[in-house]
Amino acid sequence: MKRILITGAAGFLGSHLCDRFIQEGFHVIGMDNLITGDLKNIEHLFKLEQFEFYNHDVSKFVHVSGNLDYILHFASPASPIDYLKIPIQTLKVGSLGTHNLLGLAKAKQARILIASTSEVYGDPLVHPQSEDYYGNVNTIGPRGVYDEAKRFQESITMAYHRFHGLDTRIVRIFNTYGPRMRLNDGRVIPAFMGQALRGEDLTVFGDGSQTRSFCYVDDQIEGIYRLLLSDYALPVNIGNPHEISIKDFAEEIIKLTGTDQKIIYKDLPKDDPMQRQPDISLAKTLLGWEPKVQRAEGMQKTFAYFKGLTEDELFRSEH
Ligand code: NAD
Ligand code: UDP
Repeated sequence: MKRILITGAAGFLGSHLCDRFIQEGFHVIGMDNLITGDLKNIEHLFKLEQFEFYNHDVSKFVHVSGNLDYILHFASPASPIDYLKIPIQTLKVGSLGTHNLLGLAKAKQARILIASTSEVYGDPLVHPQSEDYYGNVNTIGPRGVYDEAKRFQESITMAYHRFHGLDTRIVRIFNTYGPRMRLNDGRVIPAFMGQALRGEDLTVFGDGSQTRSFCYVDDQIEGIYRLLLSDYALPVNIGNPHEISIKDFAEEIIKLTGTDQKIIYKDLPKDDPMQRQPDISLAKTLLGWEPKVQRAEGMQKTFAYFKGLTEDELFRSEH
């Protein structure tokens, strides 16, 4: 049985990755310090012999007994309000945490895939963004703690690949959504859906003309799975190119949820990217991958998940 370590296992993407690799017959070792994650996302796995869990901060030395075939490094705060609230931990997990996991991969002779992001392109001056675009990041802005940690993460991963011959993969993930997102993590989909369910107005930041392209989680996981099993070490974009402005998106959510609430406008956060759309030509040719789930279907599934939360979960506010 192949053994895989997944960091960030109790988070949104990490928990779906655990499910997928269990389903594929792997022995899965999940690791998480629960700083933005929730054990509820993986509690269904605890009864399985194929699954074990370590509560550990990967910015500190990482030890795992036994052999490892693969490592997926997904631990990191991922939403703007999370990484603005815990900026130093965000920098550390992207830098020290990645260094620890690369070291572990080297010691175990494991293949490692690291979770990078469309944020390495910053507020892009090129549209859509292809992997050869170097990006436009404000190093000292509030989002810099995340963007630069991820850029460093890519650099150190390539250095281990080139200098130590480590078997590495880099996925640049574009906005992904689906069940198990944290309702109050501040990202736009849980924010709008939570507001609709609580009977609050939907908060559009700026004039809402900024765009994003939303990928359903099942498509994202399939892309990551194929990339891990490929032989390509340079970064690959995985996302859904179907782009929409945030204002139009808020209107779509109003229709989907049937809420009577309206849109209200708030200040645009500093350095909020104005346009974002992945160029997925590379993933198509290299992995034979493209997204399959239409936004209408993915949003319905996501809304069904949020509707299933308890009143307490719906009204609890951590931020
Ligand atoms: P998430 O916040 O739901 O999950 C991240 C998990 O990492 C959490 O469970 C958290 O507790 C854990 N974690 C954070 N710091 C840790 C540390 N030092 N040690 C151990 N565990 C730690 O976020 P997500 O959306 O699932 O994102 C997962 C990864 O994917 C992140 O690396 C993120 O940068 C990347 N990513 C996600 C998206 C997206 O749209 N969801 C987009 C681009 C990149
Ligand atoms: N956004 C918004 N209202 C909210 C939350 C977010 O208008 O309540 C906007 C945000 O300014 C950004 C877009 O939605 O332009 C996507 O934000 P998210 O935090 O989901 O992801 P990211 O900015 O990292 O792509």
